[in-house]
Amino acid sequence: MARVYKISRKRIARLLTFEEEIFEKANPKSREIYERAKDSLVRGVPMHWMDNWPSPFPIYYEEAQGANLNDIDGHKYVDFCLGDTGAMFGHGNEEVSEAIRQQVGNGSTVMFPSEDAAIVGESLQEKFELPYWQLATSATDANRFAIRLSRIVTGREKILVFNGKYHGSLDETQVSIDNEGRMIPQPRVFPNAVDFDRTTEVIEFNDIEALERALESRNVACVLAEPVMTNIGMVPPKTGFHEALREITRRTGTLLVIDETHTISTGSRGYTGEYGLEPDLFVLGKAIAGGIPAAVYGMTAEVAEVMHKHTKKEGRAISHCGFGGTLAGNVLTLNAIRATLEKVMTVDNYAHMILMAKRFEQGVNDVIKEKQLPWHVTRIGARVEYMFGKTQPKNGGEAKNMRNAELEAAIHLFLLNRGILLTPFHSMALMCPYTRTEDVDRHTEVFRECIQHIV
Ligand code: PMP
Repeated sequence: MARVYKISRKRIARLLTFEEEIFEKANPKSREIYERAKDSLVRGVPMHWMDNWPSPFPIYYEEAQGANLNDIDGHKYVDFCLGDTGAMFGHGNEEVSEAIRQQVGNGSTVMFPSEDAAIVGESLQEKFELPYWQLATSATDANRFAIRLSRIVTGREKILVFNGKYHGSLDETQVSIDNEGRMIPQPRVFPNAVDFDRTTEVIEFNDIEALERALESRNVACVLAEPVMTNIGMVPPKTGFHEALREITRRTGTLLVIDETHTISTGSRGYTGEYGLEPDLFVLGKAIAGGIPAAVYGMTAEVAEVMHKHTKKEGRAISHCGFGGTLAGNVLTLNAIRATLEKVMTVDNYAHMILMAKRFEQGVNDVIKEKQLPWHVTRIGARVEYMFGKTQPKNGGEAKNMRNAELEAAIHLFLLNRGILLTPFHSMALMCPYTRTEDVDRHTEVFRECIQHIV
C-alpha cells in the first residue's frame, strides 16, 4: 500500500522559525538598510510588494547578471523570479543593455517618434499577426486601454474576467467569487468607488456554460483573459476552451483581449502564436523592453479604425482622449523593444529556456514522486509552477484552495537561505537564456532537502 504523508503544520511552523533566525543572522546589512528606509518609504521599500517576501525583512540587492543576483550582504543567488517576468531574458541582457546604452546618451524622450517606431511596428505585426499596434508604459496601462477601446467599439460597459485573474491594478477587475458563487469585491483591495455590478462579470476559467450565460445578453464589451491563468498558481485551459471562448465571443459581438504578459514564456510568439489564438486585442508588458517600463498592445484593423477616428476630432488630432502615457513609446523604450524583439526573443533562446524548464519540472516531479506528495507541477514553456494539490486545478477557485501560505513561506525561505529565489506570492520559476543546468539542479537538490524537513 502506498504511504501517505501528512504534512505537519507544526513542522512547517518550526522550520519557518528556524529559517527566520538563519536569515536574520545572515543579512545584517539588509536589516540596516531596511531600518533606515522605513523612515522615508512606506514599509521600507519603494513598492509595497517588495516587502512581501517570507523573510522578516526584504533583501536589498547589489547587482544582477544573467540568471544571478548578489545582495548587499554578499550572498549570491540563482534567480528564478526574474523580476516576475520583467527580466525573463536575463538581468543586464547584453543585447538590450547595449541598445539602451547607445540610445540613452542620445535623448530618451522627445515629442517625435524615431525610425525604430516603424521597425518595431513591423516586427510586432510579423511576430504576433495583428496589423496595428500602440505602446503603453505598463501591462496595466495596456489592459486599461484595451478595455477602453473595447467599450468604444462595442458601446457596452461591462467586461468579463476569470476568478483568480490578475491583469494589473485595474479598478474594474478587482473582483472575486465567494463560496456561494457570487461576485464580491476582491478581498483586501479597496473598491475605489467602482460599481462592479455595472462594470464587471466574473466567472470561473474553463466554464464554457457560464461563459455562454454571461455573454448571451450581449452587454459585455470584452473578455480579458490570460490564455493560461498564471497568477493564482497555473490553471491551463481544458481542451476546446479557447475554441469555445473565441466562438462565443464572436457570436455575441464581444471582443477578446488576450493578456500575454506572463504566457509569453510559452514560445517566441507567445501562447497566441503557438496555439493559433485569434484575439481582437493582444497585450504584452513586462519583458518586452528588457525591464524598462513598457508594454505593447495590438489590435485588428476594425479596432484600429475606431481608435483612429476616436483620436481625431473634425479631422484634427486630439491629445487627451483616454490613451495616456507621456513617456510611452519614447525612443529609449522603442530601442529596447526593438532589441528584445530582434535579438532576444529568438527561437534559439526559447529552446534553451524551455530545455531548462523541462529539467526543472522533472526535478520537482522526481521529488514529488519519491516523497509521494499529493502535489503537481505545471509548465508553460519556460515557466514552471509547483502547487499543493494532486492534479491541476480547473479554475481559479480550485487553485486558490490549493494554496498554503505557511508551507509556501517555509519552502521559499528555506530556498532563499540557500541561494535560490522563487517568485514570492506563489511557487513559480522562470528560466532565462542564461539559466544553467547547474542552477536548475541546485534547485532540485535544495527543494529535496527542504521537503525532507517537513514530511
Ligand atoms: N497582466 C498580467 C498577466 C500580469 O501578471 C501582470 C502583473 N503581474 C500585469 C498584467 C500587470 O503588469 P504591470 O504591473 O507591469 O503593469
